[in-house]
Amino acid sequence: VADVASVLVDGVRVPLAVGGHPALDFCNTRAGWGSGSPKEYLHGVRELAVWAREVDLVTPAQAARAARAAVADPAGGAAVVARALAFRTDLYAVLTRPPAHAAFERVAEAARLAAASSVLRRGLDGIAEWRLPAETDPMELPYLAVVRAATDLLTEPAATTVSACPMPDCGWLFANPTGRRRWCSMAWCGNRSKARRFAARVRDA
Ligand SMILES: [Zn+2]
Repeated sequence: VADVASVLVDGVRVPLAVGGHPALDFCNTRAGWGSGSPKEYLHGVRELAVWAREVDLVTPAQAARAARAAVADPAGGAAVVARALAFRTDLYAVLTRPPAHAAFERVAEAARLAAASSVLRRGLDGIAEWRLPAETDPMELPYLAVVRAATDLLTEPAATTVSACPMPDCGWLFANPTGRRRWCSMAWCGNRSKARRFAARVRDA
């Protein structure tokens, strides 16, 4: 997939958020799920952190701390990203090829660890919510926030109405409650598909 479906933010290529849920957009940090030459957006902790900030999973301060920590500890950063990519592969399988038992078990284990890192905090409105506490490893925090978002999605009916874009070099996921949406983005894959069909008709004519 070309870079048209992404924007440049702070020097980082961030894919467009078309999924309708941060966990789906996380899966869309890779394109070409059905192709032999996929496009990867998550090259390191900095890319993961900037992306997580753009979809409001972490604060700007948390994203900046994660990026700084990864500079100080490149090996630790690489390990976090490897876990994030493995989690993404499993999550994609769970959402697109259920029941995907083995992948689901690995997702569940990541969810258990993320839940164990969370604390219950009461907000100013008196309503409590699970948060990742301040003492969380800053480098790990964007990854844990992604796992928490994925857990939220998987516990909702919306997890059963996810579609994948049929364009082979795309495969992006999106919420599709009505089942009527075909493309990740009409402006992007929808138009590319139209252009291809038109080219084929011209060729055949
Ligand atoms: Zn697409």
